[in-house]
Amino acid sequence: MIAQRLADCVSEQGFLVARMGGDEFVILVDRVTAVEDVIAVADSALAAVSTPVCVGDQQLVVSASIGIVDSAVAGTSVADLMKAADATLYWAKAEGRDRWAVYDPERSARDIARSALAAGLPVALDRGEFVLHYQPIVSLLDGRMLAVEALVRWQHPHLGLIGPDRFIGLAEETGLIVRLGEWVLRQACADAQRWHTEFPDAGLVVSVNLAARQADRPVIVDTVADALASSGLPASLLQLELTESAVMGSAGEPLRTLHRLSALGVRLAVDDFGTGYSNLAYLRRLPITCLKLAGPFVEGIRGTEPVDADHRDERIVDALVRLAHALELWVTAEAVETEAQAERLRALRCDSAQGRLFGPPGPAEDVTARLRGADL
Ligand code: C2E
Ligand code: MG
Ligand code: MG
Repeated sequence: MIAQRLADCVSEQGFLVARMGGDEFVILVDRVTAVEDVIAVADSALAAVSTPVCVGDQQLVVSASIGIVDSAVAGTSVADLMKAADATLYWAKAEGRDRWAVYDPERSARDIARSALAAGLPVALDRGEFVLHYQPIVSLLDGRMLAVEALVRWQHPHLGLIGPDRFIGLAEETGLIVRLGEWVLRQACADAQRWHTEFPDAGLVVSVNLAARQADRPVIVDTVADALASSGLPASLLQLELTESAVMGSAGEPLRTLHRLSALGVRLAVDDFGTGYSNLAYLRRLPITCLKLAGPFVEGIRGTEPVDADHRDERIVDALVRLAHALELWVTAEAVETEAQAERLRALRCDSAQGRLFGPPGPAEDVTARLRGADL
C-alpha cells in the first residue's frame, strides 16, 4: 500500500520509485535543477505516507524519514549516491523522524571522522595510548595545593594529543567509558599513592571524574574499593567528581550506590555545579562533600573590568557559595584565570580554586616537582 501511494504521488512527474528491500524505498528525481524541487517531492511523499493504513479492522500509523541527496550525475557513482542517501536518512531519523534531511558533505566527513575515532578507542586503551594530566586545586586562603584533578588525554599516534572533549562523549555512547574510566581511576590512585608515600605531609587528594554511566552501576563501589586496596591509597585522599545530572537523577539504586561510595571514605563532589538541574531539597540528602562551581559563572567575575556590569555572575557565585556553606559543603571555583577573579572569589569566601592562574593541567611529573618545591 505504501509503495502504491509513493508511486501515485510522483507518477505525474514521471519519477522512478523503487523498493530497495524491507521498508526502504528510493525515489529518483531527475531532470530537475533546484534542490527545492526535490524537497517538494519529499514533502509530498511524507504526506502520502502519513494517512493511516487500514489492515483488516486495524488502523496503522506510518511515518517516513527521508534522506535527500542533490548531486550532479557526472562524477557520481550509484554506490556513493546510495551511501550518502542512507547516511542522510539516519540524520532525519536522529532529528525525530517523519521529516527529511539534505545531504551535507561536511557533516558526513565529520561523522566519518567521529566514527573512526570511536572505532579506535578500544584499541587505544589496549595499547596504552591514554595519559593522565593533573591540574592543581589550591586553597584560596594560603595558596596551598590541596588536590589535583585527573584529566584524561589521548596520545594519538597520528593526531597528537587529543583532549577529552573530543572522545569522552564517544566513549559514553559506545559504553567504553566504563573500561576507560576504570583505567583512569586505577592510574590516578597509583600516582596519588606515590605522592602520598613521598610527601605524606602534603595530604594531596586526587580528584577523578566519573561519567554517569559509571556512577549508576552498583559495581562501581567494588571497582573503587579495589582501586584503593591495590594502590594502597587511603580512601580519604580520593575524591570522585559527578555531574549534576548523574547525581540528581539518583533515586533508589544509584542513591544507594552514592551512599556506599561515601561509606568507603572517599569524597564526592558535584562537578560543573550550576549548569545542570539541581534539586536543592535533594542536594541536602546526598552524601557529597564539595561543589565545583562551573567555569561560566567564574568567567563573569572580572574584578575591576566591568564585563559583568550589574555583577550578576558575581551575585550568583555569592549565592552558590552561601548555599554550599549552608549545606556544610566545600566550594571549588573552576576556570580561574586572573588574579582579579581570585581576589573576588576570596572576598566571597570561596574555599578553593582551580584554573590556569594556579597552573594548567600537566603531566604527573609537574605535580611531583611542585610538591618537591613546597617541601624545600
Ligand atoms: P571538567 O571536569 O569540568 O574539567 C575542567 C576542565 O576545565 C578541563 O578541561 C580543564 O583543562 C579546563 N580548564 C582548566 N583551567 C582552565 C581555565 O583557567 N579556564 C578554562 N576556561 N578552562 C580551564 P579538559 O581537560 O579539556 O576536560 C574537559 C572535560 O572532560 C572535563 O571537564 C570532564 O568533564 C571531562 N573529563 C576529563 N577527564 C575525564 C575522565 O577521566 N573521565 C570522565 N568521565 N570525564 C573526563
Ligand atoms: Mg571535573
Ligand atoms: Mg568542571
